[in-house]
Amino acid sequence: TATEPRFHFDNSYARLPGRFYARLDPTPVAAPKLVRVNAALAQQLGLDPEALRSPDGVAVLAGNHVPAGAEPLAQAYAGHQFGGFSPQLGDGRAILLGEQVAPDGTRRDIQLKGSGPTPFSRRGDGRAALGPVLREFLVSEAMAALGIPATRALAAVTTGETVLRERELPGGVFTRVAASHLRVGTFQYFAARRDDEALRILLDYAIARHDPAAAEADNPALAFFAGVVRRQAALVAQWLLVGFVHGVMNTDNTSISGETIDFGPCAFMEAYDPATVFSSIDSFGRYAYGNQPRIVQWNLARLAECLLPLLALDEEAAVERAQQALAEFAPTFEAAYHGGLRRKLGLHTEEEGDIALAQDLLTRMTEQRVDFTLAFRHLADAEQARTLFQDPAALDGWMEGWRQRLAREGASPEARRAAMAAVNPAFIPRNHRVEAAIAAAVEREDFSLFHEMAELLTRPYEDQPGLEHYTLPAAPEEEVRQTFC
Ligand code: AMP
Ligand code: MG
Ligand code: MG
Repeated sequence: TATEPRFHFDNSYARLPGRFYARLDPTPVAAPKLVRVNAALAQQLGLDPEALRSPDGVAVLAGNHVPAGAEPLAQAYAGHQFGGFSPQLGDGRAILLGEQVAPDGTRRDIQLKGSGPTPFSRRGDGRAALGPVLREFLVSEAMAALGIPATRALAAVTTGETVLRERELPGGVFTRVAASHLRVGTFQYFAARRDDEALRILLDYAIARHDPAAAEADNPALAFFAGVVRRQAALVAQWLLVGFVHGVMNTDNTSISGETIDFGPCAFMEAYDPATVFSSIDSFGRYAYGNQPRIVQWNLARLAECLLPLLALDEEAAVERAQQALAEFAPTFEAAYHGGLRRKLGLHTEEEGDIALAQDLLTRMTEQRVDFTLAFRHLADAEQARTLFQDPAALDGWMEGWRQRLAREGASPEARRAAMAAVNPAFIPRNHRVEAAIAAAVEREDFSLFHEMAELLTRPYEDQPGLEHYTLPAAPEEEVRQTFC
């Protein structure tokens, strides 16, 4: 029909051997209704937002209609979940419709999540509850607006069906956009089967898609691995700099592209504390805020193991070269993290004591349970920052050293203030606000808070008059201590 959204699909993954995936269509839902289309993203992708919002578009977004050019499939992958290896996971509730080639030539996976059972569903129902769909929408878009690589939210719909979780909940389908859905777990799937031929094909595919320069290197597999190490080290540094806690950093949720993926029980830290954990399924704090760099490195070691047969070296040399490449993680992470901390403090030159200065502030924030985001946002205004500390003297003691350090920087106070506001966000998706938006949607079919948040989170570094309440941490009775996926 006239309004059917027209995609520009070129489905490279569907051209890989059959053992990489299972072909199947999404399972239709009873009564789809549109929640939101991300018009700005649609336009970047070369999709017409109005066509996506039309009844035919909503049918596509719900999995009720397969658009022209799509070749729906569920991807196979494995993964370490909380340290234990599962040789077969795969898309149990997601279906890749196809790869949209945008007008600028970039290729993006268009995936429906919550689209019905697949051969990889194991005991799951293949569906998603509306709450997690809305959370993924808000948090993935917030991450992108913060400037952090992340999969994107193209749309959310309700299904008119319920899903059974701890109770009956309304269902939803989320349309995810990703540079690809290749994961560490994709390599693990074939490594576990000792399928070196598939590993080789997967490596060539991943190089072509994410790091074409690696194909020209002396050792393409090693160059590819080094690229994943660099991207993941930079990514986790950015997480720490905004207080993001992913919550379920299993190897199947660690992307090859370097995008943040799978916003299950994720949440943002309020009071600064490296031990912060929200996820209800993370009983031992494996994926606590401060553990995240170590965990990424562990996941990358699992990737390195998969790549050993592809390094074209004898075993001893292969292990040694892989270890050397992995050893780049720590300095790459530190450079990104320390550079980010300096910018958060308004420092644009480097001095030896800068990181100790930053660490001293963080320690005082932990002792005083000070909100991480607000403290940095208000740091340039000493009076405002003081009000965040139960004992303002704890800040005063630190301020003196910071002022002395700033005196050795060239920038004017106005320029510094602007530079700090551009890296210290006012707006993050605070957990209690996300939960309030979800509760209104789930309990009253009221999406107004969700829409309001989706809008305001696109401008995290701007002051937004009238919306100041969204910048504040939870009052004790509003605090969200646990998140569920
Ligand atoms: P996740 O925790 O979302 O990263 O998912 C881990 C694995 O469980 C993946 O293989 C998912 O496809 C699968 N999974 C999660 N929820 C469901 C569900 N409701 N139905 C089927 N499979 C699921
Ligand atoms: Mg197959
Ligand atoms: Mg996952």
